[in-house]
Amino acid sequence: MKQHTANTDLKKAGLKVTLPRVSILEILEEAEQHHMSAEDVYKTLLKNGNEIGLATVYRVLTQFEAAGLVTRHHFDGGQAIFELDTGDNHDHIVCLKTGKVSEFKDAVIEERLEQIAKELGYTLDDHKIVLYGEVIDSTKTKPFLHIKSSKTESTD
Ligand SMILES: [Zn+2]
Repeated sequence: MKQHTANTDLKKAGLKVTLPRVSILEILEEAEQHHMSAEDVYKTLLKNGNEIGLATVYRVLTQFEAAGLVTRHHFDGGQAIFELDTGDNHDHIVCLKTGKVSEFKDAVIEERLEQIAKELGYTLDDHKIVLYGEVIDSTKTKPFLHIKSSKTESTD
């Protein structure tokens, strides 16, 4: 049950289960385009018949961020974008015209970053890569791209 999942996730994060929190978490968990601004969440709530104010949406998203449930991104030229924190460290490409976001993960880039950090005398704990461009054809964009290491080529 979806309701049950959102309730469980809230409790696990140490947050009290309230209607706005459950509704907002469900939207983030079910969204097809899972990179959402507070306004996107607010509009989806309205569409679902949930009258939760924009200020509440912001407050709940900030609480989710503090609890480690969501990640907040500050991409150039746009509003803050939120997504569920799934623990996979992926990177993003953002359309400068529409604000559309896709994500990618490339094992070759990650190996290279490890190497760069090492050569500079650092460990690599985290990285953020954001590519900026423009959507060429909105019917042909992909939500994500995962490229595995050339060494460990996989069939899926
Ligand atoms: Zn993402």
